Amino acid sequence: MLELRPTCENCGKPLPPDSLEARICTYECTFCATCVDTVLENVCPNCAGGFAPRPVRPSQNWKGDNFLGKDPASTNVKHRPVDPASHARFAAAIKSIPPHRR
Ligand SMILES: [Zn+2]
Ligand SMILES: [Zn+2]
Repeated sequence: MLELRPTCENCGKPLPPDSLEARICTYECTFCATCVDTVLENVCPNCAGGFAPRPVRPSQNWKGDNFLGKDPASTNVKHRPVDPASHARFAAAIKSIPPHRR
């Protein structure tokens, strides 16, 4: 189950469970869409993988107790800002490798 981390790791923007701006990598490193697009260039600074929109967990118990009331979002903030210049070099190196070989 996703943790649904509460903020962007880079800029600290709040990303509540219903945010449409939250982006996650395969390890659930969590950033806002603006940072993914303008700073990270869709390369995760922690694992080098790409990002996808984080699904919204329902706030209502529509079916089978599968909702935020039973499985609440994480409150554990991870703040690991990237250095833009060094990340740009890292992202360029990763993007020079074809996606299926990364
Ligand atoms: Zn951000
Ligand atoms: Zn990652």
